[in-house]
Amino acid sequence: MAAFDFELLVIGAGSGGVRASRMAAARGVKTAVVENRYLGGTCVNVGCVPKKLFVYASEYSEKFEEAAGFGVHGQLNAFEWPELRDNKSNEIKRLNGIYNNLLENSGVALLHGSATLVDAHTVRVGDTEYRAEKILIATGGWPSKPDIPGAEHGITSNEVFYLEEFPQRAVVIGGGYIAVEFAGIFNGLGADTHLLYRGEQILRGFDGDVRDFAAEQIINKGVSIHTHTDVKRIDKLEDGTLRCQLTNGDMMDADCVLFATGRTPMTDGLNLDTVGVETRSDGTISVDHFFRTSVPSIYALGDVIGTPQLTPVALAQAMKLVAHWYAGDQEPMSYDNIPTAVFCQPNIATVGLTEEEAVERYGDDLTVFESSFRPMKHTISGMPERSLMKLIVQTSTDLVVGAHMVGEDAGEIMQGLAVAVKAGATKAVFDSTIGIHPTAAEEFVTMRSPRS
Ligand code: NDP
Repeated sequence: MAAFDFELLVIGAGSGGVRASRMAAARGVKTAVVENRYLGGTCVNVGCVPKKLFVYASEYSEKFEEAAGFGVHGQLNAFEWPELRDNKSNEIKRLNGIYNNLLENSGVALLHGSATLVDAHTVRVGDTEYRAEKILIATGGWPSKPDIPGAEHGITSNEVFYLEEFPQRAVVIGGGYIAVEFAGIFNGLGADTHLLYRGEQILRGFDGDVRDFAAEQIINKGVSIHTHTDVKRIDKLEDGTLRCQLTNGDMMDADCVLFATGRTPMTDGLNLDTVGVETRSDGTISVDHFFRTSVPSIYALGDVIGTPQLTPVALAQAMKLVAHWYAGDQEPMSYDNIPTAVFCQPNIATVGLTEEEAVERYGDDLTVFESSFRPMKHTISGMPERSLMKLIVQTSTDLVVGAHMVGEDAGEIMQGLAVAVKAGATKAVFDSTIGIHPTAAEEFVTMRSPRS
């Protein structure tokens, strides 16, 4: 140990890196974390947190319409983008400070700068080399743009939180989480919003019924979804308009083009090749069940290793790894039943298998329960919004293997269901659970008739 400056040196102070370094330091491990940008990583700075604040903002305009049916009359007078943007930025600054205190108070040394691996135990930050018994790479991901002419005129989720002006016309490219969430944000805040997706239906990987139902709801809210459509060139006109040439031959003008076309692992400058850390063809770092890379003293976790790109996954990995190192945990991390939500309007949330995955795994040993209804609030609000709930049950065991929802607060509702699914609840347990009335969520315990 004497030859080392630290027992653990973590590269990247995002969700996974901060959690791992704090947990290790709390066990008395001499720990440092290197960060060259902002504390809290993507989630806190240009991801989950500011996105959710924008989602809240985008939901207000519709509330005025909904209220009228209840005899409450009012109207939206103004939306001041700079106010929203700057209030959000102040909140993020506050959170950065909290992260700083968390690290300081747990005794983690914070090293500002970019890290380069020198050898299996040495990291250079600026002009200083640090030796560590273990090195953990938790550098996350970075948005990627397709290589098309004029791509530089488009922005990514890194810039969208800091726009100088709010666009009147927004084009969003992609059909994943970020595209769908930001299409909802732009639309709710008043932009004429077009979502371009190259495939058949948005949200590949989600349950088929959920995708179709969500797309219908999103279109009803005012977003124009163009499937089988991509952008092949962007030109900036003199007045600042971004003219998009689409693959279907159409032109589309916008004030803002957002590429939400996926994220790539952030390994720039780490020097992985030289020290022998193996990567896969997509650039993610290969690790074993306990996050060890091809170099035994170097570990990696979070978005950079290609597991689901979700903050709670990185947090769980960090805690698993620290427990493995310092408390003898030999149980590999499970990636089953990870609940997740897309914060579009209405929300999508899910845990467990999609129907397509369940069919692949269990063939026709399945019973599907599905309910689509108009939420009580909208019987009076007059809004056309509908909800969908779906349970997928393995018939022979009665186990609920998948739960899906499209509807208001689906993200909030699904967290509790995820506990039930993870605990191995059967459909009989769902059926014997008393509902909370009147709620939308009670539908999950009252669905009795299988889908024919
Ligand atoms: P996703 O991987 O979810 O989606 C990328 C989308 O872009 C897909 O629809 C993909 O199409 C499309 N695409 C990829 N390359 C191109 C291209 N060259 N031209 C046109 N379209 C393209 O990535 P996101 O960027 O939306 O988000 C990254 C990750 O961040 C998510 O996977 C998720 O894990 C996480 N995230 C989680 C959130 C949450 O929990 N609420 C919110 C936001 C992000 P195709 O389907 O054909 O591949």
